[in-house]
Amino acid sequence: MANSSKTRVVVGGGIVGLVSALAASEMGPVSIYDPGIGSGATYAAAGMLSPGAELLAGEHHALNDAEIALGEWPDFLNSLGSPEQLFFPAAGSLLTGYSRGDHEEIRRLTALAGASSLPCQIVTRPADAARFEDISPRFDKGVFFGEDAFVDVDALVATLIDVLKSRGVTILNKTVRRIEGGETAVVYTDDGSCRYDAGLVCTGALTDLIGQGHASSVRSVRGVTIRLRRLTPVAPRMVRGLIDGRSVYIVDRPNGEVIIGASADESAERYVDTLAVAELLRLALLLSPSLDTAEFLEARSGLRPVGPNGQPFLERVSTSWGWHSGYYRHGVLMAPLAYRRAVEFWND
Ligand SMILES: Cc1cc2nc3c(=O)[nH]c(=O)nc-3n(C[C@H](O)[C@H](O)[C@H](O)COP(=O)(O)OP(=O)(O)OC[C@H]3O[C@@H](n4cnc5c(N)ncnc54)[C@H](O)[C@@H]3O)c2cc1C
Repeated sequence: MANSSKTRVVVGGGIVGLVSALAASEMGPVSIYDPGIGSGATYAAAGMLSPGAELLAGEHHALNDAEIALGEWPDFLNSLGSPEQLFFPAAGSLLTGYSRGDHEEIRRLTALAGASSLPCQIVTRPADAARFEDISPRFDKGVFFGEDAFVDVDALVATLIDVLKSRGVTILNKTVRRIEGGETAVVYTDDGSCRYDAGLVCTGALTDLIGQGHASSVRSVRGVTIRLRRLTPVAPRMVRGLIDGRSVYIVDRPNGEVIIGASADESAERYVDTLAVAELLRLALLLSPSLDTAEFLEARSGLRPVGPNGQPFLERVSTSWGWHSGYYRHGVLMAPLAYRRAVEFWND
Protein backbone atom coordinates (compact mmCIF):
# COMPACT_ATOMS: atom_id res chain seq x y z
CA MET A 1 0.00 0.00 0.00
CA ALA A 2 1.53 3.32 -1.14
CA ASN A 3 1.93 6.29 1.24
CA SER A 4 0.30 4.26 4.06
CA SER A 5 1.53 6.51 6.87
CA LYS A 6 -0.21 9.61 5.48
CA THR A 7 -3.63 10.53 6.88
CA ARG A 8 -6.20 11.95 4.49
CA VAL A 9 -9.53 13.73 4.88
CA VAL A 10 -12.44 14.40 2.55
CA VAL A 11 -15.03 17.06 3.37
CA GLY A 12 -18.35 16.37 1.64
CA GLY A 13 -19.79 12.97 0.82
CA GLY A 14 -21.64 13.45 -2.46
CA ILE A 15 -20.60 11.31 -5.41
CA VAL A 16 -17.37 13.33 -5.83
CA GLY A 17 -16.38 13.09 -2.15
CA LEU A 18 -17.24 9.40 -2.00
CA VAL A 19 -15.08 8.47 -5.00
CA SER A 20 -12.30 10.78 -3.74
CA ALA A 21 -12.39 8.92 -0.41
CA LEU A 22 -12.43 5.62 -2.31
CA ALA A 23 -9.22 6.65 -4.09
CA ALA A 24 -7.61 7.64 -0.76
CA SER A 25 -8.72 4.42 0.93
CA GLU A 26 -6.32 2.48 -1.32
CA MET A 27 -3.39 4.44 0.12
CA GLY A 28 -3.90 4.70 3.88
CA PRO A 29 -6.25 5.99 6.62
CA VAL A 30 -9.09 8.27 5.49
CA SER A 31 -11.84 10.20 7.23
CA ILE A 32 -14.87 11.67 5.52
CA TYR A 33 -17.04 14.43 7.04
CA ASP A 34 -20.62 15.07 5.98
CA PRO A 35 -23.76 15.60 8.12
CA GLY A 36 -25.81 13.92 5.35
CA ILE A 37 -23.80 11.67 3.06
CA GLY A 38 -25.35 11.58 -0.42
CA SER A 39 -27.92 14.24 0.45
CA GLY A 40 -26.67 17.02 -1.87
CA ALA A 41 -27.02 17.25 -5.66
CA THR A 42 -26.26 13.54 -5.78
CA TYR A 43 -29.61 12.86 -4.05
CA ALA A 44 -31.54 14.53 -6.89
CA ALA A 45 -29.59 12.97 -9.77
CA ALA A 46 -31.43 10.76 -12.23
CA GLY A 47 -28.34 8.58 -12.72
CA MET A 48 -28.17 8.98 -16.49
CA LEU A 49 -24.83 7.99 -17.98
CA SER A 50 -25.85 9.62 -21.17
CA PRO A 51 -23.26 11.72 -23.00
CA GLY A 52 -25.36 11.59 -26.18
CA ALA A 53 -28.94 12.34 -25.27
CA GLU A 54 -27.86 14.69 -22.48
CA LEU A 55 -25.69 16.75 -24.83
CA LEU A 56 -26.62 20.42 -24.91
CA ALA A 57 -25.54 23.00 -27.46
CA GLY A 58 -22.35 24.62 -26.17
CA GLU A 59 -21.28 21.58 -24.17
CA HIS A 60 -19.76 19.51 -26.96
CA HIS A 61 -16.22 20.34 -25.75
CA ALA A 62 -16.95 18.06 -22.76
CA LEU A 63 -18.19 15.19 -24.92
CA ASN A 64 -14.85 13.46 -25.19
CA ASP A 65 -14.40 13.21 -21.40
CA ALA A 66 -18.02 12.11 -21.02
CA GLU A 67 -17.51 9.32 -23.55
CA ILE A 68 -14.34 8.18 -21.81
CA ALA A 69 -16.13 8.16 -18.46
CA LEU A 70 -19.00 6.07 -19.86
CA GLY A 71 -16.49 3.52 -21.17
CA GLU A 72 -14.82 3.31 -17.75
CA TRP A 73 -18.03 2.50 -15.84
CA PRO A 74 -17.86 -1.33 -16.11
CA ASP A 75 -14.31 -1.43 -14.67
CA PHE A 76 -15.24 1.13 -12.04
CA LEU A 77 -18.14 -1.08 -10.93
CA ASN A 78 -15.88 -4.15 -10.93
CA SER A 79 -13.67 -2.34 -8.44
CA LEU A 80 -16.75 -2.01 -6.20
CA GLY A 81 -17.52 -5.74 -6.42
CA SER A 82 -19.80 -5.56 -9.50
CA PRO A 83 -23.09 -4.62 -7.85
CA GLU A 84 -25.15 -5.56 -10.92
CA GLN A 85 -28.50 -4.48 -9.55
CA LEU A 86 -27.57 -0.80 -9.81
CA PHE A 87 -26.23 -0.57 -13.38
CA PHE A 88 -28.32 -0.76 -16.54
CA PRO A 89 -25.81 -0.87 -19.36
CA ALA A 90 -27.91 -1.74 -22.40
CA ALA A 91 -30.68 0.76 -21.82
CA GLY A 92 -29.74 3.24 -24.54
CA SER A 93 -31.35 6.62 -24.92
CA LEU A 94 -33.64 8.15 -27.47
CA LEU A 95 -33.50 11.87 -28.26
CA THR A 96 -36.70 12.91 -29.97
CA GLY A 97 -38.47 16.15 -30.86
CA TYR A 98 -41.95 17.63 -31.14
CA SER A 99 -41.86 20.60 -33.49
CA ARG A 100 -39.87 21.43 -36.61
CA GLY A 101 -37.60 23.67 -34.50
CA ASP A 102 -36.95 20.79 -32.08
CA HIS A 103 -35.95 18.52 -34.97
CA GLU A 104 -33.56 21.22 -36.24
CA GLU A 105 -31.97 21.33 -32.79
CA ILE A 106 -31.69 17.52 -32.76
CA ARG A 107 -29.97 17.65 -36.15
CA ARG A 108 -27.46 20.17 -34.74
CA LEU A 109 -26.82 18.04 -31.65
CA THR A 110 -26.51 14.88 -33.72
CA ALA A 111 -23.91 16.56 -35.93
CA LEU A 112 -21.93 17.43 -32.80
CA ALA A 113 -22.24 13.89 -31.48
CA GLY A 114 -21.41 12.53 -34.94
CA ALA A 115 -18.16 14.48 -34.91
CA SER A 116 -17.18 12.36 -31.90
CA SER A 117 -17.00 8.59 -31.88
CA LEU A 118 -20.29 8.29 -29.99
CA PRO A 119 -22.37 5.64 -31.77
CA CYS A 120 -25.83 6.92 -32.67
CA GLN A 121 -28.48 5.99 -35.17
CA ILE A 122 -31.42 7.86 -36.74
CA VAL A 123 -34.68 6.13 -35.81
CA THR A 124 -38.19 6.66 -37.21
CA ARG A 125 -41.65 5.18 -36.90
CA PRO A 126 -42.81 2.65 -37.92
CA ALA A 127 -39.47 1.02 -38.81
CA ASP A 128 -38.07 1.45 -35.29
CA ALA A 129 -41.37 1.31 -33.41
CA ALA A 130 -39.77 -0.49 -30.44
CA ARG A 131 -37.69 2.62 -29.70
CA PHE A 132 -40.92 4.63 -29.38
CA GLU A 133 -42.78 2.24 -27.05
CA ASP A 134 -45.20 4.21 -24.92
CA ILE A 135 -44.18 7.53 -26.51
CA SER A 136 -46.85 9.80 -27.98
CA PRO A 137 -47.31 9.33 -31.79
CA ARG A 138 -46.56 13.06 -32.10
CA PHE A 139 -42.89 12.04 -31.74
CA ASP A 140 -42.07 10.04 -34.85
CA LYS A 141 -38.33 10.40 -35.36
CA GLY A 142 -35.20 10.83 -33.34
CA VAL A 143 -31.68 9.67 -32.62
CA PHE A 144 -30.86 6.59 -30.57
CA PHE A 145 -27.65 6.41 -28.51
CA GLY A 146 -27.23 2.69 -27.97
CA GLU A 147 -24.36 2.85 -25.49
CA ASP A 148 -25.95 5.22 -22.98
CA ALA A 149 -26.60 3.58 -19.63
CA PHE A 150 -27.98 4.54 -16.23
CA VAL A 151 -27.38 3.74 -12.57
CA ASP A 152 -29.54 3.68 -9.48
CA VAL A 153 -27.85 6.54 -7.62
CA ASP A 154 -29.27 5.71 -4.17
CA ALA A 155 -27.95 2.14 -4.51
CA LEU A 156 -24.61 3.46 -5.79
CA VAL A 157 -24.20 5.73 -2.75
CA ALA A 158 -25.12 2.84 -0.42
CA THR A 159 -22.58 0.58 -2.18
CA LEU A 160 -19.83 3.20 -1.95
CA ILE A 161 -20.50 3.67 1.77
CA ASP A 162 -20.33 -0.12 2.33
CA VAL A 163 -17.05 -0.39 0.41
CA LEU A 164 -15.55 2.58 2.30
CA LYS A 165 -16.59 1.08 5.64
CA SER A 166 -15.16 -2.31 4.67
CA ARG A 167 -11.83 -0.55 4.00
CA GLY A 168 -11.87 1.05 7.44
CA VAL A 169 -12.72 4.59 6.33
CA THR A 170 -13.99 6.73 9.22
CA ILE A 171 -17.31 8.37 8.37
CA LEU A 172 -18.13 11.36 10.57
CA ASN A 173 -21.65 12.78 10.32
CA LYS A 174 -20.48 16.29 11.10
CA THR A 175 -20.51 19.67 9.41
CA VAL A 176 -17.08 21.18 8.89
CA ARG A 177 -17.18 24.83 9.97
CA ARG A 178 -13.72 25.88 8.85
CA ILE A 179 -10.56 24.46 7.34
CA GLU A 180 -6.95 25.60 7.67
CA GLY A 181 -4.14 24.89 5.22
CA GLY A 182 -0.36 24.98 5.55
CA GLU A 183 1.77 21.87 6.03
CA THR A 184 -1.21 19.96 7.46
CA ALA A 185 -4.92 20.02 6.71
CA VAL A 186 -6.91 21.10 9.77
CA VAL A 187 -10.65 20.52 10.03
CA TYR A 188 -12.82 22.42 12.56
CA THR A 189 -16.22 21.09 13.63
CA ASP A 190 -18.48 22.06 16.55
CA ASP A 191 -16.63 19.40 18.60
CA GLY A 192 -13.11 20.72 18.04
CA SER A 193 -10.42 20.27 15.44
CA CYS A 194 -8.51 17.44 13.80
CA ARG A 195 -5.30 17.45 11.79
CA TYR A 196 -4.53 15.38 8.66
CA ASP A 197 -1.67 15.23 6.18
CA ALA A 198 -3.81 16.11 3.16
CA GLY A 199 -7.42 16.93 2.41
CA LEU A 200 -9.94 17.44 -0.35
CA VAL A 201 -12.96 19.73 -0.15
CA CYS A 202 -15.81 18.12 -2.13
CA THR A 203 -18.77 20.21 -1.01
CA GLY A 204 -20.41 20.51 -4.43
CA ALA A 205 -22.14 23.84 -4.97
CA LEU A 206 -21.38 25.02 -1.41
CA THR A 207 -18.21 27.09 -1.33
CA ASP A 208 -18.16 28.60 2.24
CA LEU A 209 -15.07 26.60 3.24
CA ILE A 210 -13.07 27.67 0.21
CA GLY A 211 -13.43 31.45 0.09
CA GLN A 212 -12.26 33.70 -2.72
CA GLY A 213 -9.07 34.14 -4.70
CA HIS A 214 -8.71 30.78 -6.44
CA ALA A 215 -8.44 30.02 -10.15
CA SER A 216 -11.61 27.90 -10.00
CA SER A 217 -15.08 29.00 -9.00
CA VAL A 218 -18.44 27.36 -8.61
CA ARG A 219 -21.92 28.69 -9.24
CA SER A 220 -25.06 26.84 -8.42
CA VAL A 221 -27.94 25.74 -10.66
CA ARG A 222 -30.94 24.24 -8.88
CA GLY A 223 -32.53 21.19 -10.45
CA VAL A 224 -35.62 19.14 -9.64
CA THR A 225 -36.38 15.52 -10.51
CA ILE A 226 -39.69 13.72 -9.98
CA ARG A 227 -40.17 10.06 -9.12
CA LEU A 228 -43.27 8.14 -10.27
CA ARG A 229 -44.21 4.47 -10.46
CA ARG A 230 -45.85 3.11 -13.62
CA LEU A 231 -48.70 0.63 -13.25
CA THR A 232 -47.28 -1.30 -16.20
CA PRO A 233 -43.48 -1.06 -16.43
CA VAL A 234 -41.85 -0.57 -19.83
CA ALA A 235 -38.38 -1.89 -20.77
CA PRO A 236 -35.54 0.01 -19.04
CA ARG A 237 -34.63 2.99 -21.21
CA MET A 238 -34.14 6.74 -21.33
CA VAL A 239 -35.99 9.17 -23.54
CA ARG A 240 -35.25 12.84 -23.84
CA GLY A 241 -37.86 14.95 -25.58
CA LEU A 242 -37.41 18.44 -26.94
CA ILE A 243 -40.81 20.09 -26.89
CA ASP A 244 -41.05 23.55 -28.44
CA GLY A 245 -37.58 24.40 -27.17
CA ARG A 246 -38.16 22.92 -23.69
CA SER A 247 -36.49 19.71 -22.60
CA VAL A 248 -37.61 16.77 -20.46
CA TYR A 249 -36.27 13.27 -19.91
CA ILE A 250 -37.87 10.09 -18.67
CA VAL A 251 -35.80 7.30 -17.17
CA ASP A 252 -37.68 3.98 -16.91
CA ARG A 253 -36.19 1.61 -14.37
CA PRO A 254 -36.86 -2.14 -14.49
CA ASN A 255 -38.97 -2.04 -11.31
CA GLY A 256 -41.49 0.37 -12.85
CA GLU A 257 -40.03 3.41 -11.15
CA VAL A 258 -39.71 6.41 -13.41
CA ILE A 259 -37.53 9.48 -12.98
CA ILE A 260 -38.54 12.65 -14.77
CA GLY A 261 -36.10 15.52 -15.04
CA ALA A 262 -34.84 18.01 -14.84
CA SER A 263 -35.44 21.69 -14.21
CA ALA A 264 -32.58 24.22 -14.25
CA ASP A 265 -32.72 27.53 -12.39
CA GLU A 266 -29.79 29.81 -11.61
CA SER A 267 -30.34 29.67 -7.87
CA ALA A 268 -28.47 28.76 -4.71
CA GLU A 269 -31.72 28.17 -2.83
CA ARG A 270 -32.46 24.51 -2.56
CA TYR A 271 -36.12 23.56 -2.57
CA VAL A 272 -38.64 21.83 -4.81
CA ASP A 273 -40.42 24.67 -6.59
CA THR A 274 -44.00 24.15 -7.68
CA LEU A 275 -43.45 25.55 -11.16
CA ALA A 276 -40.67 23.04 -11.84
CA VAL A 277 -42.91 20.13 -10.82
CA ALA A 278 -45.85 21.41 -12.90
CA GLU A 279 -43.68 22.01 -15.99
CA LEU A 280 -41.84 18.68 -15.77
CA LEU A 281 -45.13 16.79 -15.45
CA ARG A 282 -46.69 18.75 -18.33
CA LEU A 283 -43.76 17.94 -20.64
CA ALA A 284 -43.47 14.31 -19.50
CA LEU A 285 -47.18 13.72 -20.18
CA LEU A 286 -46.81 15.16 -23.68
CA LEU A 287 -43.95 12.76 -24.27
CA SER A 288 -45.46 9.68 -22.62
CA PRO A 289 -49.22 10.22 -22.07
CA SER A 290 -49.71 6.89 -20.26
CA LEU A 291 -47.81 8.33 -17.30
CA ASP A 292 -51.09 9.97 -16.29
CA THR A 293 -52.00 6.80 -14.38
CA ALA A 294 -48.61 6.49 -12.65
CA GLU A 295 -48.33 6.87 -8.89
CA PHE A 296 -46.61 10.09 -7.78
CA LEU A 297 -43.83 9.14 -5.35
CA GLU A 298 -41.75 12.24 -4.64
CA ALA A 299 -39.84 15.21 -6.01
CA ARG A 300 -36.21 15.96 -5.13
CA SER A 301 -34.07 19.02 -5.62
CA GLY A 302 -30.32 19.62 -5.66
CA LEU A 303 -27.81 22.34 -6.47
CA ARG A 304 -25.62 21.47 -9.44
CA PRO A 305 -22.06 22.75 -8.95
CA VAL A 306 -21.06 24.54 -12.15
CA GLY A 307 -17.31 25.00 -12.62
CA PRO A 308 -15.58 27.59 -14.83
CA ASN A 309 -16.88 27.13 -18.44
CA GLY A 310 -19.04 24.34 -17.06
CA GLN A 311 -15.95 22.17 -16.53
CA PRO A 312 -15.07 20.08 -13.47
CA PHE A 313 -11.79 20.75 -11.70
CA LEU A 314 -9.48 19.60 -8.95
CA GLU A 315 -7.45 22.63 -7.86
CA ARG A 316 -4.77 22.67 -5.18
CA VAL A 317 -5.80 25.57 -2.92
CA SER A 318 -2.97 25.27 -0.33
CA THR A 319 -0.04 22.95 0.42
CA SER A 320 -2.32 20.44 2.10
CA TRP A 321 -5.79 21.08 0.60
CA GLY A 322 -7.37 20.49 -2.80
CA TRP A 323 -10.82 21.54 -4.05
CA HIS A 324 -12.69 19.04 -6.21
CA SER A 325 -15.97 20.16 -7.76
CA GLY A 326 -17.72 21.65 -10.78
CA TYR A 327 -19.27 18.45 -12.16
CA TYR A 328 -22.48 20.30 -13.07
CA ARG A 329 -24.94 18.02 -14.95
CA HIS A 330 -22.65 15.00 -15.17
CA GLY A 331 -21.24 14.24 -11.73
CA VAL A 332 -22.55 10.68 -11.72
CA LEU A 333 -21.46 9.94 -15.29
CA MET A 334 -18.03 11.41 -14.56
CA ALA A 335 -17.48 9.47 -11.30
CA PRO A 336 -14.72 7.25 -12.81
CA LEU A 337 -12.84 10.37 -13.96
CA ALA A 338 -13.36 12.07 -10.59
CA TYR A 339 -11.87 8.94 -9.00
CA ARG A 340 -8.80 9.09 -11.28
CA ARG A 341 -8.31 12.81 -10.62
CA ALA A 342 -8.40 12.12 -6.88
CA VAL A 343 -5.83 9.30 -7.22
CA GLU A 344 -3.47 11.80 -8.89
CA PHE A 345 -4.04 14.37 -6.16
CA TRP A 346 -3.44 11.93 -3.29
CA ASN A 347 -0.29 10.62 -4.99
CA ASP A 348 1.09 14.12 -5.52
C1 LIG B 1 -31.89 17.45 -10.67
C2 LIG B 1 -30.54 16.90 -10.99
C3 LIG B 1 -30.43 15.82 -11.86
C4 LIG B 1 -29.15 15.31 -12.17
N1 LIG B 1 -29.06 14.22 -12.98
C5 LIG B 1 -27.83 13.71 -13.29
C6 LIG B 1 -27.71 12.56 -14.10
O1 LIG B 1 -28.71 11.97 -14.54
N2 LIG B 1 -26.46 12.11 -14.42
C7 LIG B 1 -25.33 12.73 -13.95
O2 LIG B 1 -24.23 12.29 -14.27
N3 LIG B 1 -25.43 13.82 -13.13
C8 LIG B 1 -26.64 14.33 -12.81
N4 LIG B 1 -26.75 15.43 -12.02
C9 LIG B 1 -25.52 16.12 -11.60
C10 LIG B 1 -24.91 15.45 -10.37
O3 LIG B 1 -25.92 15.18 -9.44
C11 LIG B 1 -23.86 16.38 -9.74
O4 LIG B 1 -22.91 16.76 -10.71
C12 LIG B 1 -23.15 15.67 -8.59
O5 LIG B 1 -24.08 15.13 -7.70
C13 LIG B 1 -22.22 16.62 -7.85
O6 LIG B 1 -21.67 15.87 -6.80
P1 LIG B 1 -20.84 16.55 -5.64
O7 LIG B 1 -20.34 15.45 -4.79
O8 LIG B 1 -19.86 17.52 -6.22
O9 LIG B 1 -21.89 17.47 -4.86
P2 LIG B 1 -23.05 17.06 -3.85
O10 LIG B 1 -23.74 15.82 -4.25
O11 LIG B 1 -23.89 18.28 -3.69
O12 LIG B 1 -22.29 16.72 -2.50
C14 LIG B 1 -21.75 17.71 -1.67
C15 LIG B 1 -21.79 17.16 -0.24
O13 LIG B 1 -21.05 18.06 0.59
C16 LIG B 1 -21.68 18.08 1.85
N5 LIG B 1 -21.26 19.33 2.51
C17 LIG B 1 -21.46 20.60 2.10
N6 LIG B 1 -20.92 21.47 2.98
C18 LIG B 1 -20.33 20.71 3.96
C19 LIG B 1 -19.60 21.02 5.14
N7 LIG B 1 -19.36 22.28 5.48
N8 LIG B 1 -19.17 20.00 5.93
C20 LIG B 1 -19.39 18.71 5.58
N9 LIG B 1 -20.08 18.36 4.47
C21 LIG B 1 -20.55 19.36 3.67
C22 LIG B 1 -23.18 18.05 1.52
O14 LIG B 1 -23.93 17.57 2.63
C23 LIG B 1 -23.21 17.09 0.33
O15 LIG B 1 -23.49 15.76 0.74
C24 LIG B 1 -28.00 15.93 -11.64
C25 LIG B 1 -28.12 16.99 -10.75
C26 LIG B 1 -29.38 17.47 -10.41
C27 LIG B 1 -29.50 18.59 -9.42
